[in-house]
Amino acid sequence: LSSALLLCAWLALPRPVSADAFSDKLSSVRRDLHAHPELANRETRTMGAIAAYLKAAGITDVRTGVAKTGVVATIHGAGKAAAVALRAPIDAFPVDEKPGRPYGSTTPKVSHACGHDALTAMLLGAAELLNAERDKLPGDVRLVFQPAEEGAPEGEEGGAPLMMKEKAFDGVATVFALHVDETLPVGQAGLAPFAVYAGADTLKIVVNGKAAHGATPWKGSDAIAVAAQVVTALQQLPSRQMDISDPIVLTLGTIQGGTRPNGVAAQVTMTGTLRTYSPAARKRMLERTAKLAKGVAESLGAQADVSWSDGIPPVVNAAGMADEYRPVLEKELGASNVKTMAAMPFADDFSVVSESIPSLYFQLGIRNEAKGITAGTHTPDFDVDEASIPLGAKLLAKLAERRLQQ
Ligand SMILES: [Zn+2]
Ligand SMILES: [Zn+2]
Repeated sequence: LSSALLLCAWLALPRPVSADAFSDKLSSVRRDLHAHPELANRETRTMGAIAAYLKAAGITDVRTGVAKTGVVATIHGAGKAAAVALRAPIDAFPVDEKPGRPYGSTTPKVSHACGHDALTAMLLGAAELLNAERDKLPGDVRLVFQPAEEGAPEGEEGGAPLMMKEKAFDGVATVFALHVDETLPVGQAGLAPFAVYAGADTLKIVVNGKAAHGATPWKGSDAIAVAAQVVTALQQLPSRQMDISDPIVLTLGTIQGGTRPNGVAAQVTMTGTLRTYSPAARKRMLERTAKLAKGVAESLGAQADVSWSDGIPPVVNAAGMADEYRPVLEKELGASNVKTMAAMPFADDFSVVSESIPSLYFQLGIRNEAKGITAGTHTPDFDVDEASIPLGAKLLAKLAERRLQQ
């Protein structure tokens, strides 16, 4: 009896978890999520696994069902410093992964091909590290596990916009987020000084003229001739009216109109895409494109309707934040392992967060050529070197601590 009591007392003693045990624990969480991937707005099992981990780690303020299948938890610090949020996406991607992994996806046509399993494990690890020292934290840390980063199913709301709408980030002064990056070896991080990912918007222009016989164009209004002028004039925007230091791309990808060789076309529809690297350039282009197309059409006796859809702003690091927090990453990884990154043509709906709350978004290396881990995200071969997971956890925790201490 006494030895059993002693054993119980010994088991109940708090003791530091070894780095290896912590890494193993995070790997097994990641492998569990990897084996059970769930698509956007359907992450119910994932949500349960996240909440269970947080509660087991001693975090009591855990809300599930935020933005449908998201989890928002708060570690309550001892002080009154403005809250910091850490964010990770949790959804999987609709692609079959290459078979043969011991922790392979058990769901056909769905896999964690964007590494959100690893990002979720990193944030869980950060939560555990931060919670262990909550008595010393000068403020609260909000942990935001976001569903549907890859886009909500047709007709449903979701992702970061719904998280914002459901106030997941309310009261937060600063947000840190990251993504795995297969171009960087494990042990390295990448920081973009300003724009991280481009913004993308889909453009539709409908030019309405008036039908007439092709032999008497003056009796109508030729939508094709007007559309040609609109196309040409639009290229004046990037080349003549936008700051060269803030590049933009405007591409018209389709143009359709007219029905007969000998008829004046009444209508032309054009669609295109706009890519921007700053909120200012995006705003300017959205306004100017409409103004110019309408003005040109009107001056030629037609009308242009301009509409934008599927808009996603650029992911932008708040001014100065990359420089300010670079030393935190350098301290953990070594100065030579923190690379300066150029803006990339990918997208993350985190842009709706970085648009309204000062944020820092960085890349974390997961590449390991010796292990054959080199594939890009969204491909069947994609995998991560799990050594990146405890690193990501530590970096997130250190960034939050540093911000709270300011
Ligand atoms: Zn993705
Ligand atoms: Zn992703």
